[in-house]
Amino acid sequence: MEAPPIDLRSDTVTHPSPAMMQAIMDAAVGDDVFGEDPTVHILESETAALLGKEAAVYVPSGTMSNQIALRIHAQPGDEVILEADAHIRHYEGGAAAGLSGLQLNPVHGHRGIMTGSQVAAAIRGHFDWDPRSSLVCVENTHNRAGGTIYPLDVITEIAEVARENNLTMHLDGARLWNACVASGVSEAAYAEHFDTISVCLSKGLGAPVGSLLVGSEELIAKARRVRKAFGGGMRQVGIIAAAALHALRHHREGLSTDHEHALLLARELSVFAAVDLDPDSVQTNIVMFDVNDGRSATDVLQELANCGVLMVPFGPTRIRATTHRDVTEAHIRAAIGRAGSVLDRS
Ligand SMILES: *Cc1c(COP(=O)(O)O)cnc(C)c1O
Repeated sequence: MEAPPIDLRSDTVTHPSPAMMQAIMDAAVGDDVFGEDPTVHILESETAALLGKEAAVYVPSGTMSNQIALRIHAQPGDEVILEADAHIRHYEGGAAAGLSGLQLNPVHGHRGIMTGSQVAAAIRGHFDWDPRSSLVCVENTHNRAGGTIYPLDVITEIAEVARENNLTMHLDGARLWNACVASGVSEAAYAEHFDTISVCLSKGLGAPVGSLLVGSEELIAKARRVRKAFGGGMRQVGIIAAAALHALRHHREGLSTDHEHALLLARELSVFAAVDLDPDSVQTNIVMFDVNDGRSATDVLQELANCGVLMVPFGPTRIRATTHRDVTEAHIRAAIGRAGSVLDRS
């Protein structure tokens, strides 16, 4: 294959743009463990302001951001209510148990979306033998469900249930930006219902590294202590925070282009004989489909890679494709052309 592969494995594979590299070159830095990196201060305060919260802390990954949140909201032995396909449950190395001694109580939502009454039903009683329910985690957009968006009224309902039962609320908003661009609901309108929110700058926004945990002054002060204990205190980190700040300021609106590309990809893939996919199910930048001709996802992915199209497995026959800033409409059309020889057979 002479043409370079079209990489649809994840929205994390983007390369920094020239403007972003310039922002890195120009970054003012200091030792952030001493709280002296001016670029990090700006990134944290702009992110907090955008989400309508008091404070934010910059961390190396979305996993660390979520895991710090779990640690500050719950005690060992407590139970965390979350959707069964949540990233926290599937893709964080078992850290909720490993780092914080927490038990997860999975709720089976519809396409990743839990309802208020499902959450209410998952809350434990107060007998000595009951685990203590202390936290509800919501994921928006929902990765494993295919980039689905939580309706704001459903979040409102879940938050009411949580408040009535003295549970705190955490949002895994790795792709909150995508939900906002697609739904027209602002970041702050979603964030209002949560005590803490994790947002990633290294996904669709295209920064090389970094996430932020956002919340009240009091909670973020606790989060800073946990970040240090988890090994996430960084020194002249303005170098990467400058790229993250550039992404936050300039790359949010461009996500709508990724969404258009995902829809185009889904429509074209759905025509192929070996593909089970409902293009109407695509809401943001993630396309999930199944191979229906008896081949495994991994076999098909190898054949696709041989043709210069990269995607990832999400189940025995399930494949995920993700659009991002480094993929153009021409790339999408080329990917469809290349994939036809692998997927259009019956
Ligand atoms: C990517 C992602 C994260 C965090 O991932 P890192 O690779 O640790 O930055 C958290 N939640 C969701 C839903 C994600 O997609």
